Amino acid sequence: MTTTRHRAAVRMIAAIGALSLLAACSDSGGGDGSGDGAGNYPEQNITFVVPFSAGGPTDTVTRMIAEPMAAKLGAKIVVQNVEGAGGTVGAGEVARARPDGYTVLMHHIGMSTAPALYRNLAYKPLEDFEMVGLVTDVPMTIVARKDFPPTTLQDLVTYVKANTNKVTLANAGIGAASHLCGLLFQTATGVKLQEVPYQGTGPALTDLVGGQVDFMCDQTTNTSGQISAGKVKAYAVTTPERVKSLPDLPTTTEAGLPQLQVGVWHGLYAPAGTPQEVVQKLTEALKVALADQRVIDQMAKLGTAPVPAKDATPEAHRARLEEQLGTWAKVIADAGVKAS
Ligand code: ASP
Repeated sequence: MTTTRHRAAVRMIAAIGALSLLAACSDSGGGDGSGDGAGNYPEQNITFVVPFSAGGPTDTVTRMIAEPMAAKLGAKIVVQNVEGAGGTVGAGEVARARPDGYTVLMHHIGMSTAPALYRNLAYKPLEDFEMVGLVTDVPMTIVARKDFPPTTLQDLVTYVKANTNKVTLANAGIGAASHLCGLLFQTATGVKLQEVPYQGTGPALTDLVGGQVDFMCDQTTNTSGQISAGKVKAYAVTTPERVKSLPDLPTTTEAGLPQLQVGVWHGLYAPAGTPQEVVQKLTEALKVALADQRVIDQMAKLGTAPVPAKDATPEAHRARLEEQLGTWAKVIADAGVKAS
Protein backbone atom coordinates (compact mmCIF):
# COMPACT_ATOMS: atom_id res chain seq x y z
CA MET A 1 0.00 0.00 0.00
CA THR A 2 1.41 3.47 -0.89
CA THR A 3 1.70 6.05 1.91
CA THR A 4 -1.15 8.13 0.38
CA ARG A 5 -3.46 5.10 0.14
CA HIS A 6 -2.48 4.07 3.68
CA ARG A 7 -3.39 7.56 5.05
CA ALA A 8 -6.75 7.50 3.26
CA ALA A 9 -7.57 4.06 4.73
CA VAL A 10 -6.66 5.26 8.26
CA ARG A 11 -8.89 8.35 7.77
CA MET A 12 -11.79 6.12 6.64
CA ILE A 13 -11.41 3.75 9.63
CA ALA A 14 -11.34 6.76 11.98
CA ALA A 15 -14.49 8.17 10.34
CA ILE A 16 -16.33 4.84 10.67
CA GLY A 17 -15.23 4.68 14.34
CA ALA A 18 -16.60 8.17 15.01
CA LEU A 19 -19.90 7.32 13.31
CA SER A 20 -20.40 4.16 15.35
CA LEU A 21 -19.56 6.06 18.55
CA LEU A 22 -22.22 8.64 17.61
CA ALA A 23 -24.76 5.89 16.94
CA ALA A 24 -23.95 4.19 20.25
CA CYS A 25 -24.44 7.50 22.09
CA SER A 26 -27.84 8.16 20.56
CA ASP A 27 -28.97 4.52 21.12
CA SER A 28 -28.24 4.70 24.83
CA GLY A 29 -29.78 8.13 25.19
CA GLY A 30 -26.31 9.49 25.87
CA GLY A 31 -24.41 12.36 24.22
CA ASP A 32 -26.08 15.76 24.18
CA GLY A 33 -29.38 14.06 23.37
CA SER A 34 -30.10 16.57 20.60
CA GLY A 35 -31.40 13.71 18.44
CA ASP A 36 -34.27 12.77 20.78
CA GLY A 37 -34.56 15.89 22.92
CA ALA A 38 -33.46 14.02 26.06
CA GLY A 39 -30.54 16.35 26.77
CA ASN A 40 -32.81 19.40 26.80
CA TYR A 41 -35.66 17.74 28.69
CA PRO A 42 -38.04 19.17 29.64
CA GLU A 43 -39.02 21.43 26.77
CA GLN A 44 -42.80 21.35 27.27
CA ASN A 45 -45.44 20.73 29.97
CA ILE A 46 -45.31 17.37 31.73
CA THR A 47 -48.55 15.49 32.46
CA PHE A 48 -48.82 13.60 35.74
CA VAL A 49 -51.60 11.03 35.38
CA VAL A 50 -53.54 10.19 38.55
CA PRO A 51 -55.59 7.01 37.98
CA PHE A 52 -58.30 8.07 40.48
CA SER A 53 -60.67 11.01 40.97
CA ALA A 54 -59.61 14.56 41.74
CA GLY A 55 -59.74 15.43 45.43
CA GLY A 56 -58.87 11.89 46.59
CA PRO A 57 -55.70 10.79 48.39
CA THR A 58 -53.61 9.86 45.32
CA ASP A 59 -54.54 13.16 43.73
CA THR A 60 -53.65 15.05 46.95
CA VAL A 61 -50.16 13.54 47.20
CA THR A 62 -49.53 14.13 43.48
CA ARG A 63 -50.46 17.80 43.69
CA MET A 64 -48.27 18.23 46.80
CA ILE A 65 -45.12 17.10 44.99
CA ALA A 66 -45.98 18.49 41.53
CA GLU A 67 -45.18 22.10 42.40
CA PRO A 68 -41.65 21.60 43.82
CA MET A 69 -40.89 19.06 41.08
CA ALA A 70 -41.99 21.55 38.43
CA ALA A 71 -39.76 24.24 39.99
CA LYS A 72 -36.75 21.90 39.91
CA LEU A 73 -37.42 20.70 36.36
CA GLY A 74 -38.23 24.18 35.04
CA ALA A 75 -41.45 23.05 33.35
CA LYS A 76 -45.14 23.12 34.19
CA ILE A 77 -46.66 19.89 35.55
CA VAL A 78 -50.31 19.35 34.66
CA VAL A 79 -52.19 16.82 36.82
CA GLN A 80 -54.71 14.78 34.85
CA ASN A 81 -57.21 12.38 36.46
CA VAL A 82 -57.76 9.30 34.30
CA GLU A 83 -60.11 7.24 36.46
CA GLY A 84 -61.63 3.81 36.12
CA ALA A 85 -61.34 0.11 37.02
CA GLY A 86 -59.44 0.55 40.28
CA GLY A 87 -56.67 2.64 38.72
CA THR A 88 -55.98 0.27 35.82
CA VAL A 89 -57.35 2.59 33.11
CA GLY A 90 -54.92 5.41 33.93
CA ALA A 91 -52.00 3.03 34.41
CA GLY A 92 -52.74 1.40 31.03
CA GLU A 93 -52.83 4.79 29.35
CA VAL A 94 -49.38 5.70 30.65
CA ALA A 95 -47.98 2.26 29.74
CA ARG A 96 -48.94 3.02 26.11
CA ALA A 97 -47.86 6.69 26.11
CA ARG A 98 -44.79 7.95 24.22
CA PRO A 99 -41.72 7.17 26.33
CA ASP A 100 -40.42 10.73 26.29
CA GLY A 101 -40.85 11.79 29.92
CA TYR A 102 -43.85 14.00 29.21
CA THR A 103 -46.39 11.49 30.54
CA VAL A 104 -45.75 10.22 34.05
CA LEU A 105 -47.95 8.09 36.30
CA MET A 106 -48.51 8.39 40.03
CA HIS A 107 -49.77 5.08 41.31
CA HIS A 108 -49.93 3.29 44.62
CA ILE A 109 -50.11 -0.25 46.01
CA GLY A 110 -52.72 -0.97 43.30
CA MET A 111 -49.83 -1.45 40.84
CA SER A 112 -49.03 -4.65 42.74
CA THR A 113 -52.57 -5.95 43.32
CA ALA A 114 -54.10 -5.54 39.83
CA PRO A 115 -52.16 -8.38 38.11
CA ALA A 116 -53.60 -10.89 40.59
CA LEU A 117 -57.12 -9.47 40.27
CA TYR A 118 -57.61 -8.84 36.54
CA ARG A 119 -57.69 -11.61 33.97
CA ASN A 120 -56.79 -9.30 31.07
CA LEU A 121 -54.70 -6.51 32.47
CA ALA A 122 -53.49 -4.25 29.64
CA TYR A 123 -49.99 -3.78 31.07
CA LYS A 124 -47.21 -5.62 32.90
CA PRO A 125 -46.03 -3.59 35.91
CA LEU A 126 -42.37 -4.65 35.80
CA GLU A 127 -41.97 -4.59 32.01
CA ASP A 128 -44.06 -1.68 30.81
CA PHE A 129 -42.73 1.05 33.10
CA GLU A 130 -39.51 2.74 34.17
CA MET A 131 -39.61 3.26 37.93
CA VAL A 132 -38.79 6.83 38.96
CA GLY A 133 -38.89 6.40 42.74
CA LEU A 134 -41.10 5.77 45.75
CA VAL A 135 -42.94 8.77 47.15
CA THR A 136 -44.71 8.03 50.44
CA ASP A 137 -46.23 5.26 52.55
CA VAL A 138 -49.68 6.21 53.80
CA PRO A 139 -51.60 4.52 56.63
CA MET A 140 -55.24 3.64 56.05
CA THR A 141 -58.11 4.29 58.41
CA ILE A 142 -61.38 2.41 58.81
CA VAL A 143 -64.15 4.99 58.86
CA ALA A 144 -67.96 4.93 58.86
CA ARG A 145 -70.85 7.31 58.41
CA LYS A 146 -71.34 9.32 61.61
CA ASP A 147 -74.61 7.65 62.59
CA PHE A 148 -73.49 4.07 61.85
CA PRO A 149 -74.31 2.06 65.03
CA PRO A 150 -70.97 0.31 65.86
CA THR A 151 -68.65 2.40 68.03
CA THR A 152 -65.48 0.27 68.12
CA LEU A 153 -63.77 -2.03 65.63
CA GLN A 154 -64.94 -5.07 67.60
CA ASP A 155 -68.52 -3.70 67.52
CA LEU A 156 -68.15 -3.25 63.78
CA VAL A 157 -67.12 -6.90 63.35
CA THR A 158 -70.09 -8.08 65.47
CA TYR A 159 -72.44 -5.79 63.56
CA VAL A 160 -71.39 -6.90 60.07
CA LYS A 161 -71.60 -10.56 61.14
CA ALA A 162 -75.16 -10.00 62.30
CA ASN A 163 -76.02 -8.13 59.07
CA THR A 164 -74.23 -10.22 56.50
CA ASN A 165 -74.61 -8.93 52.91
CA LYS A 166 -76.53 -5.85 54.08
CA VAL A 167 -73.70 -3.54 55.14
CA THR A 168 -72.28 -1.38 52.34
CA LEU A 169 -68.55 -0.83 51.86
CA ALA A 170 -67.36 1.95 49.55
CA ASN A 171 -64.17 1.49 47.55
CA ALA A 172 -62.35 2.91 44.53
CA GLY A 173 -62.86 -0.18 42.35
CA ILE A 174 -61.20 -3.58 42.14
CA GLY A 175 -57.47 -3.23 42.65
CA ALA A 176 -57.64 0.01 44.63
CA ALA A 177 -56.16 0.25 48.12
CA SER A 178 -59.64 0.63 49.60
CA HIS A 179 -60.69 -2.56 47.79
CA LEU A 180 -57.66 -4.44 49.14
CA CYS A 181 -58.31 -3.24 52.69
CA GLY A 182 -61.98 -4.24 52.40
CA LEU A 183 -60.88 -7.64 51.10
CA LEU A 184 -58.58 -8.12 54.11
CA PHE A 185 -61.45 -7.10 56.41
CA GLN A 186 -63.81 -9.63 54.82
CA THR A 187 -61.18 -12.40 54.88
CA ALA A 188 -60.31 -11.68 58.53
CA THR A 189 -63.92 -11.63 59.70
CA GLY A 190 -65.42 -14.15 57.27
CA VAL A 191 -68.25 -11.75 56.39
CA LYS A 192 -69.54 -10.66 52.99
CA LEU A 193 -70.16 -6.96 52.39
CA GLN A 194 -72.02 -5.13 49.63
CA GLU A 195 -69.22 -3.35 47.80
CA VAL A 196 -70.01 0.03 46.22
CA PRO A 197 -67.33 1.05 43.68
CA TYR A 198 -66.42 4.68 42.95
CA GLN A 199 -63.86 6.19 40.58
CA GLY A 200 -61.80 7.18 43.60
CA THR A 201 -62.23 7.59 47.33
CA GLY A 202 -62.64 11.38 47.02
CA PRO A 203 -66.29 10.96 45.92
CA ALA A 204 -66.67 7.86 48.14
CA LEU A 205 -65.81 9.90 51.23
CA THR A 206 -68.29 12.60 50.19
CA ASP A 207 -71.01 9.92 50.11
CA LEU A 208 -69.87 8.51 53.44
CA VAL A 209 -70.14 11.95 55.06
CA GLY A 210 -73.56 12.26 53.39
CA GLY A 211 -74.63 8.89 54.85
CA GLN A 212 -75.15 7.12 51.48
CA VAL A 213 -72.75 4.26 52.33
CA ASP A 214 -71.91 2.60 55.66
CA PHE A 215 -68.14 2.37 55.87
CA MET A 216 -64.83 2.24 54.00
CA CYS A 217 -61.05 2.05 54.37
CA ASP A 218 -59.05 4.96 53.07
CA GLN A 219 -55.73 6.71 53.34
CA THR A 220 -55.20 9.27 56.11
CA THR A 221 -54.39 11.75 53.32
CA ASN A 222 -58.12 11.73 52.53
CA THR A 223 -59.81 10.96 55.85
CA SER A 224 -57.79 13.02 58.40
CA GLY A 225 -59.78 16.23 57.93
CA GLN A 226 -63.19 14.53 58.21
CA ILE A 227 -62.06 12.48 61.24
CA SER A 228 -60.76 15.56 63.07
CA ALA A 229 -63.92 17.52 62.19
CA GLY A 230 -66.08 14.68 63.57
CA LYS A 231 -67.84 14.24 60.22
CA VAL A 232 -67.12 10.49 60.14
CA LYS A 233 -66.67 7.80 62.79
CA ALA A 234 -63.15 6.35 62.87
CA TYR A 235 -62.38 2.87 64.23
CA ALA A 236 -58.70 2.16 63.64
CA VAL A 237 -55.57 2.79 61.65
CA THR A 238 -54.15 -0.12 59.63
CA THR A 239 -50.44 0.29 60.48
CA PRO A 240 -48.39 -1.25 63.30
CA GLU A 241 -47.91 2.18 64.95
CA ARG A 242 -50.48 4.86 65.76
CA VAL A 243 -50.49 7.95 63.53
CA LYS A 244 -49.10 11.09 65.21
CA SER A 245 -51.75 13.40 63.76
CA LEU A 246 -54.59 11.07 64.94
CA PRO A 247 -53.22 10.02 68.36
CA ASP A 248 -56.53 8.73 69.77
CA LEU A 249 -57.11 6.26 66.96
CA PRO A 250 -56.07 2.70 67.93
CA THR A 251 -54.19 0.44 65.54
CA THR A 252 -56.05 -2.57 64.14
CA THR A 253 -53.83 -4.76 66.36
CA GLU A 254 -54.81 -2.80 69.48
CA ALA A 255 -58.43 -2.96 68.38
CA GLY A 256 -58.35 -6.76 67.98
CA LEU A 257 -57.97 -7.26 64.22
CA PRO A 258 -54.21 -7.70 63.70
CA GLN A 259 -54.68 -9.46 60.34
CA LEU A 260 -55.83 -6.14 58.85
CA GLN A 261 -52.48 -4.42 58.13
CA VAL A 262 -51.85 -2.37 55.04
CA GLY A 263 -49.74 0.66 54.19
CA VAL A 264 -50.35 2.39 50.88
CA TRP A 265 -47.02 2.98 49.16
CA HIS A 266 -46.95 5.38 46.21
CA GLY A 267 -44.48 5.61 43.33
CA LEU A 268 -43.88 7.56 40.11
CA TYR A 269 -43.61 5.72 36.78
CA ALA A 270 -42.63 6.62 33.20
CA PRO A 271 -43.43 4.42 30.19
CA ALA A 272 -40.82 1.72 29.46
CA GLY A 273 -38.18 3.01 27.04
CA THR A 274 -38.05 6.52 28.49
CA PRO A 275 -34.39 7.63 28.16
CA GLN A 276 -32.43 6.98 31.34
CA GLU A 277 -31.25 10.58 31.58
CA VAL A 278 -34.88 11.73 31.56
CA VAL A 279 -35.76 9.24 34.31
CA GLN A 280 -32.76 10.52 36.26
CA LYS A 281 -33.99 14.11 35.96
CA LEU A 282 -37.41 13.06 37.23
CA THR A 283 -35.81 11.16 40.14
CA GLU A 284 -33.68 14.18 41.07
CA ALA A 285 -36.76 16.42 41.01
CA LEU A 286 -38.69 13.91 43.12
CA LYS A 287 -35.91 13.93 45.73
CA VAL A 288 -35.98 17.72 45.86
CA ALA A 289 -39.78 17.71 46.31
CA LEU A 290 -39.64 15.13 49.10
CA ALA A 291 -37.04 17.21 50.97
CA ASP A 292 -39.18 20.37 50.67
CA GLN A 293 -40.26 21.51 54.15
CA ARG A 294 -43.73 22.52 52.93
CA VAL A 295 -44.29 19.03 51.52
CA ILE A 296 -43.02 17.44 54.76
CA ASP A 297 -45.38 19.66 56.83
CA GLN A 298 -48.40 19.08 54.56
CA MET A 299 -47.84 15.33 54.66
CA ALA A 300 -47.38 15.32 58.47
CA LYS A 301 -50.76 17.06 58.90
CA LEU A 302 -52.31 14.26 56.85
CA GLY A 303 -50.70 11.42 58.79
CA THR A 304 -47.81 10.59 56.48
CA ALA A 305 -44.25 11.52 55.47
CA PRO A 306 -42.01 11.39 52.39
CA VAL A 307 -39.99 8.19 51.98
CA PRO A 308 -36.29 8.49 52.93
CA ALA A 309 -34.11 9.78 50.03
CA LYS A 310 -32.61 6.30 49.49
CA ASP A 311 -36.09 5.01 48.55
CA ALA A 312 -36.85 7.80 46.08
CA THR A 313 -34.82 5.87 43.50
CA PRO A 314 -35.66 3.53 40.58
CA GLU A 315 -33.80 0.66 42.30
CA ALA A 316 -35.69 0.87 45.61
CA HIS A 317 -38.95 1.35 43.72
CA ARG A 318 -38.42 -1.75 41.56
CA ALA A 319 -37.43 -3.82 44.61
CA ARG A 320 -40.62 -2.74 46.44
CA LEU A 321 -42.82 -3.48 43.44
CA GLU A 322 -41.28 -6.94 42.99
CA GLU A 323 -41.76 -7.78 46.67
CA GLN A 324 -45.34 -6.44 46.75
CA LEU A 325 -46.40 -8.28 43.59
CA GLY A 326 -45.43 -11.53 45.31
CA THR A 327 -47.07 -10.64 48.63
CA TRP A 328 -50.45 -9.66 47.22
CA ALA A 329 -50.60 -12.38 44.55
CA LYS A 330 -50.63 -14.91 47.39
CA VAL A 331 -53.15 -13.07 49.58
CA ILE A 332 -55.50 -12.51 46.64
CA ALA A 333 -55.21 -16.10 45.40
CA ASP A 334 -55.99 -17.35 48.92
CA ALA A 335 -59.03 -15.06 49.05
CA GLY A 336 -60.18 -16.42 45.67
CA VAL A 337 -61.08 -12.99 44.25
CA LYS A 338 -60.99 -12.21 40.51
CA ALA A 339 -62.36 -9.32 38.48
CA SER A 340 -64.07 -10.26 35.21
N1 ASP B 1 -57.58 5.85 47.93
C1 ASP B 1 -58.06 5.31 46.73
C2 ASP B 1 -57.89 3.82 46.76
O1 ASP B 1 -58.74 3.21 47.31
C3 ASP B 1 -57.65 5.90 45.48
C4 ASP B 1 -57.87 7.38 45.37
O2 ASP B 1 -58.99 7.84 45.19
O3 ASP B 1 -56.88 8.07 45.41
O4 ASP B 1 -56.98 3.26 46.21
